[in-house]
Amino acid sequence: MERSKQYVPHQSVRYLNSENKDDSGKPLPMLYENRENCCGCTACEAACPVNAIVMADDSEGFPYPVIDAKKCLRCGKCLAVCRLKEDQREKGYLKDAPPKTTEAASKEPPACYAVKHKNFEIRMASRSGGIFTAVSDWILEQGGVVYGCVQTKDFLAQHIRAERKEDRDRMRGSKYIQSSLDGIFPQVRSDLDAGRKVLFSGTSCQVAGLKSYLRTDYENLLTVDIVCHGVPSPLIWKEYLVWQSKKHKAVCKAVDFRNKRDFGWKAHVETLTLQNVRGEMIQVNSEVYKRMFNGVYLSRPSCYQCPYKSVFHPADLTIADYWGIQKIAPEFNDNKGVSLVLVNTEAGKALFEQVKDTVELLECKLEDSLQPALKAPFPVPADRTEFWKMFYSEPFEALAKKYGGYGFVNTAKRKLGRLKRSLKAKLRR
Ligand SMILES: Cc1cc2nc3c(=O)[nH]c(=O)nc-3n(C[C@H](O)[C@H](O)[C@H](O)COP(=O)(O)OP(=O)(O)OC[C@H]3O[C@@H](n4cnc5c(N)ncnc54)[C@H](O)[C@@H]3O)c2cc1C
Ligand code: SF4
Ligand code: SF4
Ligand code: SF4
Repeated sequence: MERSKQYVPHQSVRYLNSENKDDSGKPLPMLYENRENCCGCTACEAACPVNAIVMADDSEGFPYPVIDAKKCLRCGKCLAVCRLKEDQREKGYLKDAPPKTTEAASKEPPACYAVKHKNFEIRMASRSGGIFTAVSDWILEQGGVVYGCVQTKDFLAQHIRAERKEDRDRMRGSKYIQSSLDGIFPQVRSDLDAGRKVLFSGTSCQVAGLKSYLRTDYENLLTVDIVCHGVPSPLIWKEYLVWQSKKHKAVCKAVDFRNKRDFGWKAHVETLTLQNVRGEMIQVNSEVYKRMFNGVYLSRPSCYQCPYKSVFHPADLTIADYWGIQKIAPEFNDNKGVSLVLVNTEAGKALFEQVKDTVELLECKLEDSLQPALKAPFPVPADRTEFWKMFYSEPFEALAKKYGGYGFVNTAKRKLGRLKRSLKAKLRR
């Protein structure tokens, strides 16, 4: 990819044809003044009656709405469905406003379970314990429709609609990049209006955005949100794949963002399957992308002010990896994956009841289950801007060395660190 030499992040909502004046004198909608206040949920795009909004990538590769002033009627429908800012305001994250309510004080905390699908193969194909397959199977068996995120043929992430298990199966596994919701919200509405049972799964801000777009409490809608550390930039991911392909003089054929089969549930190793010019397949196991992801350099700006980083979530069920299960119930952990399930609503409770026979479960205390992403957003790394400047000005390999632990010096440092730790442990014994 040809990149300009300069990193120029955008600030507020972008317009096309903004020289076009409106006779009524009404201003163009200001969807967000700071890019931290837009999560890219597409509710505004879907709500616009004249298709005046398109989602376009910014310099970090995240989709944001762009408004065509020539088409815009200044009707304000896009503003009315934009929920993120309201939720950020409640949490006190909006620069201009103090917190509005004390959410935690007024709400019942969710019930909490550790869950493993009884079918071992399903569990192995899933990120954690396979709870998503359990609930989506039930929806499909009822003649319903499932929405979720799949990997595209270009190894990007995209939401699709599934009526068959084969399509739903593609939703299994975490894709550590922001997924495209292109055209999805209107499809969900049309399924709901047709009386179909719908399960929508995605990040909390995608679920909140969908509900805000719908503006109606449909009884036939069920939602599942994933606990998310933050969604990484698809642009960095694409460049990472290009770098790996060039390095191995081979073409990428398959990707596993977190290879559980070969390394276990707890480990975090990305596996790329590449084909070289001789037609041979090479398996590349790497932690370079993982380290940048864990360093929180790759997250969308809104993720650093995520209002859903608490035990309260907008979906009926919240699912996650049950980190910490080895401490509270070691007998339940086999390093093949355990899901954490938060039951947030009556509808979620009824859905969970339907799938209880397909899973092994353990009721847990919420206070024993609080991983960092259930407490507060991850802070912006102090050198995030430096990271992006480097991405724009230097080869990817330099970024991989500085932020992804790549290269001889980094490997030597890690080996030395491991040696020191094991010596210290021996001396303590
Ligand atoms: C970007 C990202 C960050 C995450 N961060 C955390 C974390 O901090 N802590 C934690 O415990 N778990 C995290 N997860 C994992 C998530 O909690 C698991 O999806 C969950 O454990 C589901 O378990 P399962 O076994 O039912 O999985 P699966 O069957 O593998 O579940 C797949 C589900 O994930 C959804 N999904 C996959 N990729 C995306 C995506 N890019 N955008 C939206 N939805 C997606 C699918 O639609 C489907 O609903 C993260 C996942 C993603 C994609
Ligand atoms: S509705 Fe969603 S995509 Fe549109 S401005 Fe608001 S947060 Fe961004
Ligand atoms: S004000 Fe109305 S017409 Fe203009 S972008 Fe928003 S929804 Fe579309
Ligand atoms: S961290 Fe929050 S804002 Fe970011 S993708 Fe996840 S739910 Fe959305």
